[in-house]
Amino acid sequence: MTSLNRFSHPLKFNILELHDRLTTKGFTILFCWIPSHVGISGNELADNLARSATNSFNSPVPVNDVKKYVKSILHSKWLAQWDLKNTNKLQSIKRLIDCWPSLPIRKLDTVLTRLRIGHTRFTHRHLLLGEPAPLCTACQCQMTVLHILIECRQFNHQRIRCFHSSSITLKDILHKDPHPQLFTFLRMIGFYSLI
Ligand SMILES: [Zn+2]
Repeated sequence: MTSLNRFSHPLKFNILELHDRLTTKGFTILFCWIPSHVGISGNELADNLARSATNSFNSPVPVNDVKKYVKSILHSKWLAQWDLKNTNKLQSIKRLIDCWPSLPIRKLDTVLTRLRIGHTRFTHRHLLLGEPAPLCTACQCQMTVLHILIECRQFNHQRIRCFHSSSITLKDILHKDPHPQLFTFLRMIGFYSLI
């Protein structure tokens, strides 16, 4: 608490000052933490008293406390919005909005990002060229990142070799720490240069 001062933490400072004053007068102070008032009689009364105490406490709020508060409100609002984006391809892989590290090699990082958002040159080029979407001739369905990496039975053999299973999810291989064999797999199936 050496860095504590009246201006950066006025409330904490007042509490410590009061604590010191009372202990020097011989009082023994015991701090209790009560998780919530739920199920405790006098709940409303306690809430009202707590509110009235803060109303009469006419002390400036430190800028750092305001910043932290605004940051946490923005973060929770952002997360709430992200939770609703369940048709977004990235959302199925990345459920939280924390920061993921980039790969040290720029090219690999670009490939990984394109796979995570589900947009690659191969699967989306037709939109720019006004052509029909590419189809998987083996499965008779549209080529998507999900189909190529996870669903297409043509690549089961390579999946087993690289991931030791033919039943994997996008989350398994594209999550925060991508699977170490991901790029080997992409090269093996000939998809790497088309991303
Ligand atoms: Zn297929």
